[in-house]
Amino acid sequence: MVADKASDSPNEQNEDKLDVLKSTQTVVQTALDKLGYPEEVFDLLKEPVRMMTVRIPVRMDDDSIKIFTGYRAQHNDAVGPTKGGVRFHPDVTEKEVKALSIWMSLKAGIVDLPYGGGKGGIVCDPREMSFRELEGLSRGYVRAISQIVGPTKDIPAPDVFTNPQIMAWMMDEYSRIDEFNNPGFITGKPIVLGGSHGRESATAKGVTICIDEAVKKKGISVKGSRVVIQGFGNAGSFLAKFLNDQGAKIVGISDAYGGLHDPDGLDIDYLLDRRDSFGTVTKLFEDTISNEELLELDCDILVPAAVENQITEENADKINASIIVEAANGPTTLEATRILSERGILLVPDVLASAGGVTVSYFEWVQNNQGYYWTEEEIEEKLYKVMVKGFNNVYNTAETRKIDMRLAAYMVGVRKMAEAARFRGWI
Ligand code: GLU
Repeated sequence: MVADKASDSPNEQNEDKLDVLKSTQTVVQTALDKLGYPEEVFDLLKEPVRMMTVRIPVRMDDDSIKIFTGYRAQHNDAVGPTKGGVRFHPDVTEKEVKALSIWMSLKAGIVDLPYGGGKGGIVCDPREMSFRELEGLSRGYVRAISQIVGPTKDIPAPDVFTNPQIMAWMMDEYSRIDEFNNPGFITGKPIVLGGSHGRESATAKGVTICIDEAVKKKGISVKGSRVVIQGFGNAGSFLAKFLNDQGAKIVGISDAYGGLHDPDGLDIDYLLDRRDSFGTVTKLFEDTISNEELLELDCDILVPAAVENQITEENADKINASIIVEAANGPTTLEATRILSERGILLVPDVLASAGGVTVSYFEWVQNNQGYYWTEEEIEEKLYKVMVKGFNNVYNTAETRKIDMRLAAYMVGVRKMAEAARFRGWI
């Protein structure tokens, strides 16, 4: 097992459990063991093959210069170029970006895309920055990583607190360096710059498809079911809309500042109308609940769509949902996964449930490469097929092997990468 060093203090033990890189490595190793791969495969896959740390100077609006730290991790490029988003967040760490790049490899494996995983992050708080400062930071990041990225090397995309505008600045900066228009460098662009129909709502669409499949397994239906969504950003807000339109009752939502609860169902269209571009809406209300309380609300379907380590061994016993579908990356710790699975709660893991985003990013990249663009209906149809296949593959692996869906997803996700590395003669 990867937890090689025995931690001495309870604090350290707790930190270990919340260490997303360590827990990812643990599951990757278990998956490889179950698939019968030798130790060197784990040795190769436990860390990114390439990791770049950059320091980005940005002239701020008050004319001062601020230096930001950024990362780009490329987990494994045996299958194809690496692919994954860039997050702008004050809590970004090197370890987190590494774990996120491994998750991207797994997602690509599960939905069978010709990519390996990559991820980027910049330590910053975009909520506190002006448009001009954000542009400077986005362009500076691209200049700093330009040597290791590109349409056939590593293709960035949006993630937490980044959006089509930021993708547009990044694409423009890369095209300037390259001296030609290069839309395939990045996905999640505005449609007029070669973005794809359906990309903005793709993560939520993918989650919706997983929910549709999961409820079938539990013998319930989305219509009339009670749903709690943690996070009202890109994934959470579109998801609330889709499920609300399908007749589900959204009884709880939250943002970084708190949650809203109404057992009779919240007015989602009103909340969507009032949310800001960072997904903040609860500040407008007085009667709020905490994010902890939100997770424990009585419901049928719980969707963590915010950040990591939200469901832990502390609250896993108190979750009152029969299905959890992870729209965020890494919201549930391994301990919590075990507790939930023992309690018979169906947990659809992040690397499967949130793969809709990268799937439509792949469609965007294909359209950029071929210079011919598909309609929204064509994208939706393709996404549906990919997600249902991925879901069933993971679900059936879990059933046959009598394991939880997280481990099953890792087994499905890691296989292609390990095979590709073997054929290339790397291991
Ligand atoms: N950031 C998204 C994710 O975590 C999308 C990545 C992409 O589109 O490449 O899956």
